[in-house]
Amino acid sequence: MRFSEMIYQRPDFDKLESDFRQKVRVFVNSDSDAKQAGIIGEINLSREDVDTAMSLARIRQTIDTRDVFYDGESVFLDENSPRYQALIDEYYRALTTSPFRQELENRFGKRLFALAESAQKTFKPEIMDDLSMENRLCTEYMKLLASAEIDFDGKKLNLSGLGPYRESADRKVRRSATEAYFGFLAQNREKLDSIYDSLVSIRNRMAIKLGFKNFIPLAYLRMSRLDYDAHMVRNYRESILKTIVPVANALRENQRVRLNLERLYYYDLPFRFKSGNPKPQGSAKDIIREGRAMYHALSKETGEFIDRMLDEGLMDLETRPGKAGGGYCSWIPKYKAPFIFSNFNGTSGDVDVLTHEAGHAFQAHMSKDFEIPEYVWPTMEAAEIHSMSMEFITWPWMDRYFGPEADKYRFMHLSDALVFIPYGALVDEFQHVVYENPGLSPAERFKMWRELERKYLPYRDFSGNAYLEEGGFWQCQRHIYESPFYYIDYTLAQVCAFQYWEKFQENRESAWSDYLKLCHAGGSAAFLELVKTGGLESPFEPGVLEKAVEPAREWLSRTDSSKF
Ligand SMILES: [Zn+2]
Repeated sequence: MRFSEMIYQRPDFDKLESDFRQKVRVFVNSDSDAKQAGIIGEINLSREDVDTAMSLARIRQTIDTRDVFYDGESVFLDENSPRYQALIDEYYRALTTSPFRQELENRFGKRLFALAESAQKTFKPEIMDDLSMENRLCTEYMKLLASAEIDFDGKKLNLSGLGPYRESADRKVRRSATEAYFGFLAQNREKLDSIYDSLVSIRNRMAIKLGFKNFIPLAYLRMSRLDYDAHMVRNYRESILKTIVPVANALRENQRVRLNLERLYYYDLPFRFKSGNPKPQGSAKDIIREGRAMYHALSKETGEFIDRMLDEGLMDLETRPGKAGGGYCSWIPKYKAPFIFSNFNGTSGDVDVLTHEAGHAFQAHMSKDFEIPEYVWPTMEAAEIHSMSMEFITWPWMDRYFGPEADKYRFMHLSDALVFIPYGALVDEFQHVVYENPGLSPAERFKMWRELERKYLPYRDFSGNAYLEEGGFWQCQRHIYESPFYYIDYTLAQVCAFQYWEKFQENRESAWSDYLKLCHAGGSAAFLELVKTGGLESPFEPGVLEKAVEPAREWLSRTDSSKF
């Protein structure tokens, strides 16, 4: 079914509550695992309706943030979703205390029960108002950023629209575009601080009500990180600092030399080559047409997948005024349909959408037949393996998008992937400090961010920009507001994607079969187990980070980037 024909139906939460509770009662009173399994199926059907409504409302609201109807529905759903969460909590309680738990685990897998057990620790009816408030504040942040209408180059641009100018070969243009971008944030600094202040205090309050010391262990549970902890993440960040930061610094220094600049300022960073960054040739339509051909050439599975995405209108790719920023991939359960949202802006990022977000969507498509909704998506660090690896798996087709600039693109892609890792560690450490010290003032947070920035990204030079010099950069990083602690995930996945990058060079066939296994497994296992399923090594294991990154570093160092 086409996306435009999918029907949004506002959930009736009163009715849902009484029906759902009735089902849970029947479940509890059932005298066999077969009967309980039947009720699980019924419960999952009711969940499918609510999840579909939430997903459609969110997608349609981000497609046009000015749409009054979906805006109202989103507000309504934000307000009521904690009621829904309360029902799921009751269901999970019944599930994990079932006298037939063993039989049900054999039938549905242990993972569902591990997830249900951990989810219960993240919820009590006492935090329902806090959850609604948290949702409202995240929406407020999203809208504030989407409201940007910046006069630039004779046009009214949103923040994504400034993207191409920030990469301009003309230093004056990229400087003024970057200043305009952060100028918008600086103008809204107080609002951004106040939203974040409220978010931190609400999250901390919920953690205390649930019996945690602070928000950090709660955040890990909310992300269903059941097989690693903050201590392992800290050690992992240490190894990033030791191993990757020097490599990233060297890559930035190469960039400076390549550009023949005396100093590399913050507004120069997105501009990598004197001849300009590689740009996709042709229009958005051309990119999409090449995407279809590419996925047909890659495999039978990806061919079927891309036909469906395009034929059913499951991708909204081009930027427009009023559209929310960024890109994402979502899932519409009732139609078993992935959906890709992005803001094409004429940069190489447009091709990345077609590989990265399509990697997510492809995995969901491969996992669509799980009867347990919990198994459609894995946790985020595992989900990003599918997307980041797809960016590498599609390397052989980059000539079709970039023509003679394909090698330039590959060089930029690989070096960006490496340079990104310390930034990921920075965002992660920042949040650990914020939530360990929920009383920090906005000024203290700025200062702390700037100190961590110096530690992980020592090459960042903000001379001439007071807002960034004081430590304001993080306010544009939407994860910090909307999805706390969702960030180290990208670096963990990147380390796994580097492993696939090498495997695909050695033997495409066996590497593809490993990748497919991983996509098929969906969310039916925890991160470290999925890593094994995909034939990968855990980034937490000593030496794996170094080993995974070395071939990429080596490839970059033997590529003469001065020719680009
Ligand atoms: Zn992603």
